[in-house]
Amino acid sequence: MFVDSHAHIAGPEFDDDRDAMLERAYGARVTAILNVGTGDPHSGVFERAIEMARRHPHIYNAIGVHPHDARFYDDAAEHRIKHLFETAERVIAWGEIGLDFHYNNSPRDVQIEAFKRQLRAASDCGVPVIIHTREAETETIEILQSEYSGAERRGVFHCFSGSRDLAQRALDLGFALSFSGIVTFKKAEELREIAKEVPLDRLLIETDCPFLAPVPYRGKRNEPAYVVEVARCIAELRGLPLEEIAQVTTYNFQCIFDPLSPASAR
Ligand SMILES: [Zn+2]
Ligand SMILES: [Zn+2]
Repeated sequence: MFVDSHAHIAGPEFDDDRDAMLERAYGARVTAILNVGTGDPHSGVFERAIEMARRHPHIYNAIGVHPHDARFYDDAAEHRIKHLFETAERVIAWGEIGLDFHYNNSPRDVQIEAFKRQLRAASDCGVPVIIHTREAETETIEILQSEYSGAERRGVFHCFSGSRDLAQRALDLGFALSFSGIVTFKKAEELREIAKEVPLDRLLIETDCPFLAPVPYRGKRNEPAYVVEVARCIAELRGLPLEEIAQVTTYNFQCIFDPLSPASAR
């Protein structure tokens, strides 16, 4: 079985065929999906995601304020997220959080502040984090070192597409790296080299759907069933059977996010 460790399936892109999309995922042996809730935390997005997961036992949720939405992060948002961790079913990670200096949808200083606060809050709650970083490698590592070194749990750098240096620093900090469909793209040679060398016990796979569909679906709407193509690409790179990549990435997901813990089954 496969796990899609990062998907956005609560949004309007899947409103017309969500059940069919999930059937295709199960048919492809994708038996767990981590849905990542993004958007303004005051708009009810997290509650909607949790409601969706309540009806589908294979769906887990991560909740947190994306760097794009960092300007919405305030005391009330933090309270709400903490409350949901305490009360909702199958909410297993804080994220995605981090820095995106490519789009700068929220000002950089606001992103940095929201990232720091959420790292501290996740650490207080004892939950793992999902890191999004784009064109902010140095700052992301520095903040993790200063705000998260003492935390009990770690997490993942999702949709990893950074440099070798960032990969090494993330691994040194105890994080896993999750690869998306980007690894199948023609020009992603450096990324394939990284995916080949990551220690197997730090490897995860994801779709980040509805974006970034892997080859041979590139350009189409992405969906969790296609995570198998990401696994296939990595299996070929490493000269391993597809089954082995399926097994290790599923096992790593369980170790990092602990979906079977009493708290997440609440
Ligand atoms: Zn992201
Ligand atoms: Zn994402």
